[in-house]
Amino acid sequence: MNMTRRTALRNIAIAGAAVSVAPAYLSRAQASALAEGGGGYPYRLPDLPYAVDALEPAVDAMTMQIHHGKHHAGYVKKLNAALADFPEHAERPLEELLQDLPSLPEAIREKVRNHGGGHWNHSLFWTSLSPVSFELRGRLAAAVETSFGGSDSLVEKLKSSGLQVFGSGWVWLTVKDGGELVIETTANQDTPLMHGHRPLLGMDVWEHAYYLHYQNRRAEYLEAVLRQIHWPAVNQRYLRTLGVEG
Ligand code: MN
Repeated sequence: MNMTRRTALRNIAIAGAAVSVAPAYLSRAQASALAEGGGGYPYRLPDLPYAVDALEPAVDAMTMQIHHGKHHAGYVKKLNAALADFPEHAERPLEELLQDLPSLPEAIREKVRNHGGGHWNHSLFWTSLSPVSFELRGRLAAAVETSFGGSDSLVEKLKSSGLQVFGSGWVWLTVKDGGELVIETTANQDTPLMHGHRPLLGMDVWEHAYYLHYQNRRAEYLEAVLRQIHWPAVNQRYLRTLGVEG
């Protein structure tokens, strides 16, 4: 067998493997998407929709383990602790609390902002990433074409905006009230929900998301992780904002 044919057969085998793996992965992601929105009190750490090393080399296993198992777990624990003595607020949906922080007693307002935001943001983040490569398709692709001139240009803008975040924070693709798509950033664990925008995609640019592997090279991290976006999940969120089921 000549090399070309062998390479071709191997590529077919890889493509076949990807096809047979994808449905199982997608159903896990869909199951895990149930955790989007953070669940209810007492909050629990959602499972990752893939193995801790599944996103290597973009995200190394140790970073994933610490990020999910320590940082995210910490937000969940502290959010539960903050709400423990406030049952009337504990029973409200997390999104409602984040959308209306002034309705919370001062004693827990900042805790819910930071730890509730942390829990909500990371729950979205894990389900926004994929070990399998996807292209942006569907209704969101058309909207992104209109707003940003295509998905490559969107990714480029997410990267440059993520680089501009000073200190810890997030870069987002969100939908405004009138349906307009915007790229925006937030500091710390603040979420666009706080000013009435609906996040479709959030990229964590805290150093804890990349420092072990990339040290100070945030641009390299962003380039790599932006290639791992679960576009079908992001499109599905967009369809939900339009009142259409994906
Ligand atoms: Mn994080």
